[in-house]
Amino acid sequence: MERNSTHLCFYPFLSSASGYVDELGATLENLISSAAFERARLRGKVRILEAIKDGMILKPAVITNAQAEMELLAYPFARILVSCIHDEHLVRRYVLSEAKAAHEKLLADSRTDTDIIYEMAEEFSIRVDFFREHVQMPFVDYLRFTINLHDKKWKLVNRGLEKGGVKLEKGEFIRIIQEAIYERIMKDLPLNVPADVCNAIRGYTEEIKRELEETRKKFGDAEGFIVKDPNCFPPCIAHILSNLKEGINVTHGARFAVTAFLLNLGLSEDEIIEIYKNSPDFDEERTRYQVRHIAGGTGSVRYTAPSCATMRTYGNCVGSDDICEKISHPLNYYRLKLKTKKNRAQTHT
Ligand code: SF4
Repeated sequence: MERNSTHLCFYPFLSSASGYVDELGATLENLISSAAFERARLRGKVRILEAIKDGMILKPAVITNAQAEMELLAYPFARILVSCIHDEHLVRRYVLSEAKAAHEKLLADSRTDTDIIYEMAEEFSIRVDFFREHVQMPFVDYLRFTINLHDKKWKLVNRGLEKGGVKLEKGEFIRIIQEAIYERIMKDLPLNVPADVCNAIRGYTEEIKRELEETRKKFGDAEGFIVKDPNCFPPCIAHILSNLKEGINVTHGARFAVTAFLLNLGLSEDEIIEIYKNSPDFDEERTRYQVRHIAGGTGSVRYTAPSCATMRTYGNCVGSDDICEKISHPLNYYRLKLKTKKNRAQTHT
């Protein structure tokens, strides 16, 4: 299917997009240094800054061909930037933000351009049958692309299975395409970028690193949450948080445990939602509802974090240490460790 630069700039991961980039004469050398591509470089940097700050890349209004081409070239440059920074967490966050932005655009485009869903299915070799009201895909493919989707609506047992095929609404299929897009963008990242190239674009990478550092200080990453001391978190909670930060799948039980634990410690709804932003299936509205529900804000009771016994039962007791032998609840672990730490600090003053 013939598509122009305006289309490709919104879906720069398509195989036809790289051919178009070649046609624009964008070699690695001039992409990183030519004045003609400066706007593309700036836009590439902004893509990553938006991913860090908002977990989403905003698609700009594109009117002219020149704007479309700049937007298209910003994508390979952004890939070079994240590769030079070489931070696994940043790579995941960036890729997820690109995939989400493409998903939003695809949802909007599919309202007027029905061919676009066929195009995407073909692009990602997703076997699918299109019907008037729904689509149907083989359950093997369905399983492959829903492995990171935790909501119970995606579980195979909750779906109609007909002759080995899973029935989906159009919007659900587009959500599955987001998973395929994520996989495609993540492929080969970080790229193996020569050191002299990374040096040449240091001005851009330094600015991104500063923003990353700021965000980490604000929302807690290794060094900690603003209001609480993560160094005193029990190993089970630290393990779940570390998985969430890395964008690794976390079970419902573990999500409940960590959310209730942090609420009990006094973190706000927004601070907790921020922690979930790297999840592959992050949906802000649904996460807010769930956090609020655990906090008792939807008319339910306010939940207390699960005890060690419950954590063990659901396989969430990970990495127990000496302190664990003295307590029976993760919150008591936190209190005990915090108290010991404060006592030690006082003895040293
Ligand atoms: S014993 Fe309790 S506090 Fe320690 S890791 Fe297991 S669940 Fe967490």
